[in-house]
Amino acid sequence: MTTALAFRDVNAFYGPAQALFGMQLTVGAGETVALLGRNGAGKTTTMRAAMNILVRRTGEIDVLGEPAKGTSDRIARRGVGWVPDDRRIFPTLTVRENLLLAQKSARAKDREPVEFDEVLEILPIMKRLIDRRGSALSGGEQQAVAIARAIVARPRLLLLDEPTEGLAPVIVEELQRAVADLPGRFGMSILLAEQNLAFVQSIAQQVLVLETGRLVYSGTAAEFAADPSIRERFLAIGSA
Ligand code: ATP
Repeated sequence: MTTALAFRDVNAFYGPAQALFGMQLTVGAGETVALLGRNGAGKTTTMRAAMNILVRRTGEIDVLGEPAKGTSDRIARRGVGWVPDDRRIFPTLTVRENLLLAQKSARAKDREPVEFDEVLEILPIMKRLIDRRGSALSGGEQQAVAIARAIVARPRLLLLDEPTEGLAPVIVEELQRAVADLPGRFGMSILLAEQNLAFVQSIAQQVLVLETGRLVYSGTAAEFAADPSIRERFLAIGSA
């Protein structure tokens, strides 16, 4: 398997409203691809289309070498971890219990979970959170737990939806180190929706820019960094 995720000419719809138009993308094995775009550009919809949830699609989507058909649970079983932007930590459970559930669910899907020690090595912030309840965590701490929970299941493809949104810089740095570590450590492929350009440029090899559901730019991270006009045109941001 050399391609973790492929979209060929994908359109996506919410009822009669079209949210993606002719989307093309490829995430190679072990590669990190960033999806940039303003609010409402279609980043979340791209992830939902890959998971076959909430949207109607046309065109072709392959996830880990097979068509993305069936329920999102079935697609996840192939080895896909999805961290939606609302995080969805269980508030009444402790962080440890949240992670234990993820381990149990990974075993039920015949996946060998990542041990706690390794998760704590990847995300050291988890050490002081482990006995806290989900409801007692800040937004950044919840995001760290949501990512840790996805890592536990040892996904081959990780879909990360705006992990740094609204977070303090110190947590963003920790998440950056953690996400950067995953391809080398586990051979993971990553699709990362983001608006934080510094985060993207430190992690991704490829950059895609979406505007109102259309792919308007695709290039290597180095090409993207070297061309500030892309940022000005599509993202209304002058510098990283
Ligand atoms: P954000 O950063 O705001 O999440 P995004 O790039 O992820 O932005 P999407 O959430 O994919 O964008 O939204 C793409 C388009 O689809 C927008 O016009 C949005 O209003 C619309 N949309 C998203 N979710 C739904 C839904 N559940 N029902 C109807 N329209 C939706």
